Amino acid sequence: MSIPFIDLKAQYKLVEDSVKSGIDGVLEHGAYVMGPEIKDLEERLSSFSAVRHAVGCASGTDALIMALMALEVGPGDAVFTTPFTFMATAEAIALLGATPVFVDVDPVTFNIDPDALRRSIRDFKENNAELTPKGIIAVDLFGQPADYDRIEPLAQNNGMFLIVDAAQSFGATYKGKPVCSLGDMACTSFFPAKPLGCYGDGGMVFAQNDELHKLLVSIRVHGMGEDRYENVRLGINGRLDSMQAAVLLAKFEIFPDEIEKRQAAAGRYNELLDGIDGVTVPTVPEGNTSVWAQYSLLARDTEHREELMGKLKEVNIPSVIYYPKPLHLQKAFANLGYSEGDLPVCENLASRIFSLPMHPYLEAEDQETIAKVLKG
Ligand SMILES: *Cc1c(COP(=O)(O)O)cnc(C)c1O
Repeated sequence: MSIPFIDLKAQYKLVEDSVKSGIDGVLEHGAYVMGPEIKDLEERLSSFSAVRHAVGCASGTDALIMALMALEVGPGDAVFTTPFTFMATAEAIALLGATPVFVDVDPVTFNIDPDALRRSIRDFKENNAELTPKGIIAVDLFGQPADYDRIEPLAQNNGMFLIVDAAQSFGATYKGKPVCSLGDMACTSFFPAKPLGCYGDGGMVFAQNDELHKLLVSIRVHGMGEDRYENVRLGINGRLDSMQAAVLLAKFEIFPDEIEKRQAAAGRYNELLDGIDGVTVPTVPEGNTSVWAQYSLLARDTEHREELMGKLKEVNIPSVIYYPKPLHLQKAFANLGYSEGDLPVCENLASRIFSLPMHPYLEAEDQETIAKVLKG
């Protein structure tokens, strides 16, 4: 038996012809970096996301860095975010010399807790005169949107920006709105394992605002001005390869269908696994949709998780822990002075969570096998 954690081969069979002809096109025209495919992709994904502007870039990490640079984030600034995310979210803040402030998460959605965020901003303003509260990066963990109706007013009322880290949630909706249309900017990743992935690294920043769009375009190519060899600010080499854009254009054709298939697979898991003693299945609040970048269960405790993951491993079914160590406890952020117990909800989730195989081509039969193993 072999159930892949993510099945990119099944997907490749469906897009093989269009991927190959897209790559052939790039080989023919020879504009390997920032070729015509980039603009085409930006137009399609911005229209899909109901947002004015999209700027393709080299990775999700670069998307976050470019967004923060466009908002002039630097030393002396504090940016509030979640510790229950991939390293890149907080790394981008720290790389620019700003200070990440970690806020605990909601135990049901695993996303930043708006009440904890409100308290954290208030406490911060009272106790940290030397740092300016500059913005918030909310993360749509595992593909489901954070609670934007409660987060956006906190940003607005405190004069802070809001960036949506949609690296896992491209294609998801919050109260009917595509997640990449939310916040001042939204950033996504096209790493192969993300819901919309290319065959290498890629990313995109979305913005409604024309001025931010101009800044992003400039920052993407070393802070260029009207012409490429005029540099009006510091930027990065954040360009997207034409071949990756060609791959994304081909894969985007089947993406809406893939979202439905992911949602169907998640629904089947929920039905099969709900009610297993000590296991909590994921919940998406009414009115929102997830793209199920991961399907993550909570075990009763660490021991129970080991037992369940062990059962799966015995029959060669892969499962993965996202994320075993919250960012506030990582060595890379030791200088921030957090210790165990500071963010208890997040720490508790990290000790119990694990993710099952999830992709659009997951067969109902395989899911039944997985459920049987977990129950047995
Ligand atoms: C994957 C990911 C990123 C970074 O994207 P890359 O393309 O790998 O640089 C940022 N934030 C989150 C939440 C992610 O899952």
